[in-house]
Amino acid sequence: MAVRKRTLRQVDFAGKRAFVRVDFNVPLRDGAITDDTRIRAAVPTLQAILAAGGSVVAASHLGRPKGKAVDALRLKPVAERLRALLPGVEVRYVTDVAGPEAAAAAAELRAGEVLLLENLRFEPGETENDKDLAARLAALADVFVEDAFGACHRAHASTAALPGLLKPAVAGLLLEREIEAFHRIMDVPRRPVVAVIGGAKVSDKLPVLQSLLQRAQVLLIGGGMAYTFLAAKGIEVGGSLLEEDRIDAARAVLAAALRARVRLLLPTDHVIADAFADDAAFRVVEGAIPKGWMGLDIGPATQHAYRLILAGAGTVVWNGPMGVFEMSAFREGTLTVARAVADSDAVSVVGGGDSVAAIAMAGVTERIGFVSTGGGAFLEMLEGKQLPGIAALDDAPAA
Ligand code: ADP
Ligand code: MG
Repeated sequence: MAVRKRTLRQVDFAGKRAFVRVDFNVPLRDGAITDDTRIRAAVPTLQAILAAGGSVVAASHLGRPKGKAVDALRLKPVAERLRALLPGVEVRYVTDVAGPEAAAAAAELRAGEVLLLENLRFEPGETENDKDLAARLAALADVFVEDAFGACHRAHASTAALPGLLKPAVAGLLLEREIEAFHRIMDVPRRPVVAVIGGAKVSDKLPVLQSLLQRAQVLLIGGGMAYTFLAAKGIEVGGSLLEEDRIDAARAVLAAALRARVRLLLPTDHVIADAFADDAAFRVVEGAIPKGWMGLDIGPATQHAYRLILAGAGTVVWNGPMGVFEMSAFREGTLTVARAVADSDAVSVVGGGDSVAAIAMAGVTERIGFVSTGGGAFLEMLEGKQLPGIAALDDAPAA
């Protein structure tokens, strides 16, 4: 059972400065934000604190600057977007993470104002979970609020050491929803639980498959990782993605599924291509994949079978596209699964950067029960792990 965490609803912010760890790790092209979903997602938490009479010190990482200042990874464009999303709110931005400039700006903050710090990863201590950096960050505020679910699987200074120093340390509204969604699918799921797992590499997904064998009644496998499973069953996979060194591990998962009486389905037909390209020659094949061809999507019979199972699911968990959905010839399997999840009455949770992009492409995001903002964090939660960024928060007061 997941431990319940104290949330920002259980804190009085009047006259307090809240350090809010946000996930503003947005995609940039030529210095412009191409998708501001993550900034928008943090707005309710920021507004709740401001409305309660508090002020906000917001901090995020952006990209991988590796412990030094990199001009292209400054949070200036993020500050500008945040101003647009918080009309009427004073949003200050400093080009300093935890030095004197940040300290002075935090000291001057008044109720109702926001201060955005510079990219946390400009400080080498951030990824090292450095106590001194955490102490300097803690000195900027009175309360810690974690709202960066996508960073909670990292034991970094802002996610792990800091909430140990700055109390109370509570979950923001976005993180609270993530934790609740996992509670619904992990602790008290409606049966049958159907897990759809795809994506490129089986090596990324072995731990989650092992965990799902304990929780799901049906596993639907697709994507590039399916070919290592098919190879484990002695089926010819041609030039498809194959991780030879994981064939034994795949065979072990198949055996464990049999023992646990979990239905594990593999694709029975495939959209195959003669090259990894949008304009490759392609066709549908059942069973073995001929030499010189590679499987880039699940075929129509598999799509049909998966859709029927999803229609009868009580709970659906999905991570990983069924094919190379970035290319138009190989996206029908993924779009079909997306529509099937949306159409089903199941409690549904989808996570992973590419999976979330795929449901948006299918136009069904609004009809999915919960769309996680996590990639790595989503997988680790599904694996049943304790994430350091969540573990460090205060437990909920006893009911
Ligand atoms: P997520 O980001 O949702 O966790 P992954 O990153 O694990 O998903 O996997 C997504 C990637 O898997 C996509 O880039 C997709 O093109 C790739 N992929 C899916 N099926 C195949 C396939 N049959 N062959 C090669 N790559 C594939
Ligand atoms: Mg991905």
